[in-house]
Amino acid sequence: MSTKATVEKLVSLCKRRGLVFQGSEIYGGIGGFWDYGPLGVELKNNIKQAWWRAVVQERDDVVGQDAAIVMNPTVWRASGHLDTFADPMVDCKECKKRFRADDLVGAVPAGTHGHEAAAKVSRCPECGGELTEPRMFNLMFRTYVGPVEDDASTAYLRPETAQGIFVNFANVLTTTRKKLPLGIAQIGKAFRNEITPGNFIFRDREFEQMEIEYFVKPGTDEQWHQHWVEERYNWYLGLGMRKENVRVRQLDREELAHYAKDTYEVEYLFPMGWSELEGIANRTDFDLRRHAEFSGRDLTYFDEESGEHIIPYVIEPSAGVDRLLMAFLMDAYDEEEVRGETRVILRLHKDLAPIKVAVLPLSRHEKLVPPAREVWGLVRKHWMSQYDDAQSIGRRYRRQDEVGTPLCVTVDFDTLEDEAVTIRERDSMEQVRVPIAGLVAALRERLETA
Ligand SMILES: [Zn+2]
Repeated sequence: MSTKATVEKLVSLCKRRGLVFQGSEIYGGIGGFWDYGPLGVELKNNIKQAWWRAVVQERDDVVGQDAAIVMNPTVWRASGHLDTFADPMVDCKECKKRFRADDLVGAVPAGTHGHEAAAKVSRCPECGGELTEPRMFNLMFRTYVGPVEDDASTAYLRPETAQGIFVNFANVLTTTRKKLPLGIAQIGKAFRNEITPGNFIFRDREFEQMEIEYFVKPGTDEQWHQHWVEERYNWYLGLGMRKENVRVRQLDREELAHYAKDTYEVEYLFPMGWSELEGIANRTDFDLRRHAEFSGRDLTYFDEESGEHIIPYVIEPSAGVDRLLMAFLMDAYDEEEVRGETRVILRLHKDLAPIKVAVLPLSRHEKLVPPAREVWGLVRKHWMSQYDDAQSIGRRYRRQDEVGTPLCVTVDFDTLEDEAVTIRERDSMEQVRVPIAGLVAALRERLETA
């Protein structure tokens, strides 16, 4: 995180510049749901594309898929979500606020133990009122399929995309004729009815995941686990995240999910402290074994080397798009003094920047408009771009800096004589003059080389 970034500044920038809006804002919002505006959707798409390119397009051992959000409810019995995907919840009898019991445990002052600590958490942290006993609360959103609302038609919005991959393992294996190790990648929405969503888009009730289930032969799982931890950590650094703000942490035994043999987290130093961006778990053969059992289907893999049917182990890198977007923004946020004014810049990696090129006529002078529109016509075919002629040129540069646009192209009165334009670079503010005939090549050199 930049030393200048705070959650307040980020929320304000996101709203002001159309990156992220509160969901259903005109009705007072709805907790844990956020909407992405014109620039937010570009940034989000760019994050997803960068991920897809790295894990699918550039590898020969991972393929993609896109499963439905609503699945046969037996999936959630097999996966364990119906029984165990729950948080302990307590209610305040006075103000009716609801809390996660484990959050309140964290709120106990240091140095209090046993009965003393228990006594402390029996009061509401907001109003001091009495709390109910903890009850387990399942985090899956429930819905009904078809016209009848009864137990038989109950279905769930998926709480993770992973299960859509496990149930398609045999389909993908057969149709691609691939051998192990084989990864299946998916990007999609997931839903969790969090008791306490918060920290802007860090913990949402509706969010997007980027997950890979990487199927390997048992015995090679630990080596592939290390491979993916390194790959994923390096992906963040490759997209410009500052090394001092990203770390890998191996979870303690007590922190592991019921299915996991071992898990690492890629964490980011948010204002609220080190928090998970991505979990990389060794899920063993838990999921395939359970789905084979509940579906009655054969989900084994025939290993030609040993001549045996085996149940593959699974390494799962699982990242949250929304919290990655927040981390990339925090990390890119910067302020600097330029000629007595504060310049706000998003130093986003060029692959992530929502707008790659802004085309700016020096003014709205009638002679400048036709060549400026013409230049924009050349640029927009290749990159997400913007044409802006409102206000002074200085103000327009600042506006582009604030949303991380790497390059601005300015059309001025000299353009009418020399058929050239000025490229201005975001971070250095350096300007170079290039002929319009070579503009696309000049932009490509700056935007597409590593
Ligand atoms: Zn209360």
